[in-house]
Amino acid sequence: MGVLGLRKNADLRTLAWLFFLVPVPMVAQYAAAAPAPWMDAVDGKAWWWPAVWAWPLCVYTSFVVGVMAHNINHLPPFKFGERGNPFCALANTLIGMYVSIWYGFPIFAWVPTHNENHHKRLNRKGDATITWRLSKKNNIFNAFFYPFVSTYHQSTLVSAYLAKHKAAAFGQPIPQSPTSQHHGNSMALEDVAGTSGASAEVFWNAMLQYCAGGVAHSTLAYIAIVHRCEGNVLHGLWLYLTAMLLPSLLSGYQMMFTNYIQHVHCDPWDMPNASRNFHCGDSFVAKAERFLTFNAGYHQAHHNSAHIHWSDLGEAHAKLEADMDPRLKLPSMTWFIFSTYILYGVFGFSAFKTEEVGRPAWDEAGETPAAKSSLEKAARREAAKRATCERAKVA
Ligand SMILES: [Zn+2]
Repeated sequence: MGVLGLRKNADLRTLAWLFFLVPVPMVAQYAAAAPAPWMDAVDGKAWWWPAVWAWPLCVYTSFVVGVMAHNINHLPPFKFGERGNPFCALANTLIGMYVSIWYGFPIFAWVPTHNENHHKRLNRKGDATITWRLSKKNNIFNAFFYPFVSTYHQSTLVSAYLAKHKAAAFGQPIPQSPTSQHHGNSMALEDVAGTSGASAEVFWNAMLQYCAGGVAHSTLAYIAIVHRCEGNVLHGLWLYLTAMLLPSLLSGYQMMFTNYIQHVHCDPWDMPNASRNFHCGDSFVAKAERFLTFNAGYHQAHHNSAHIHWSDLGEAHAKLEADMDPRLKLPSMTWFIFSTYILYGVFGFSAFKTEEVGRPAWDEAGETPAAKSSLEKAARREAAKRATCERAKVA
C-alpha cells in the first residue's frame, strides 16, 4: 500500500495535479478578474484578459481531469489496506465529489457508459460511444461533432443506471429494462439496466457528486459576480464562464474526442488492434506525453485489463506491442490530431488520412465465436472486479 492510504504511490502525482495544478488557471483568472476585451476596461487591465493566458493551461488541466475521472472509476485511488475500512470509502467518495466539480458532470457517469458498456462492446454495435454513428469516415467533421452526438446517446444509459440504483435506495421495484424508444440504444441499455448490482450506496454516491458540483459551481458564480466583479453580473458571469464552466465542460468533450481517436478505424475483432495507441517509443515527445497524460495513450493495454493501474500501463503495453499493427502504435497524440484533422482535414494532405486497420467495427461477420467468447470473458472478469470494488471500495 502506498502512503496516505493510496493504492499506489504514483497516485501522489494524481493528488498533486488535482489539488495544486488543476485549480491554478481558475484561481489565476479569479485573482486577475478582468472583464473580456469587449466589455468596459477596469483599471486598464482589460488587455490582460486572463482567459487568454490562462486558457492554454486550462486545456491541459481539463484534459487531465478527464483522464483522472476515468482512472478513478476503474480503480479508486485510496485503498487503506483493509477491506471495508470506513476511511477508505470516505476518501474515495470525497475524491469522486471533488473531481466531479472540475469534470463538469458527476463522474459516476463513466460507470454505465464506459466501464459497463464501452469496455464490453468495444466500438461495435451496442456501444453507446461508437465512432461510426455519423459516418464511417475519420475526418474533422466527425471528430468535432462526435462528442456531442456521443453525449446524447450516453445520456440514456446514465438515466437508466441512476433509475436502477434509485429504486434500490428507496426500496422500489427495479424499472423494467428500457427498450428501443431510448434513441435505439436498447442493446447498450441491456448492459446497465436490469436488477443486477442495484445498490443504494451507488445512488447516494452519485447524488453527493451532483451536490458537490452544484454547490461548488454556484458558489464560484456568486464569488465571481459579488466579490470579484463588484456586483456587475455580466462581468462576473464572464469570469465564471471562462475560469470554471467552460474548462469543466471541455473536460468531458476532450475525453470523448480522445475516445474517438483511440478507436476510429481500429479493429475490435482482433484484440491487439482494437485501439490506437499513442506516445509509443522513446522519443522526447513520447516521454513527455506519457508523463503529462498519465499514460492515457496506452489504450489497448487498458482495454485488455481495465484494472491495471495507469502507472503500470507502459509495462502492459510493452508485452502487447509486438502483436500490434504499426499503424496503431504512434509516437504522439498531439501530432496525430494535428496531422489528421489539420494537415489532412483542413489542407487535404492525403498522406495523413487514416484507413481501416483490419475488419471494421460495423462488420458483424467478424464476430467469430472465438472472438466473441474472449471479449465476453474479458467483460465478465471486468464486471466481477468492479463488483468487488463497489462492495468494499478496495480492490
Ligand atoms: Zn476505461
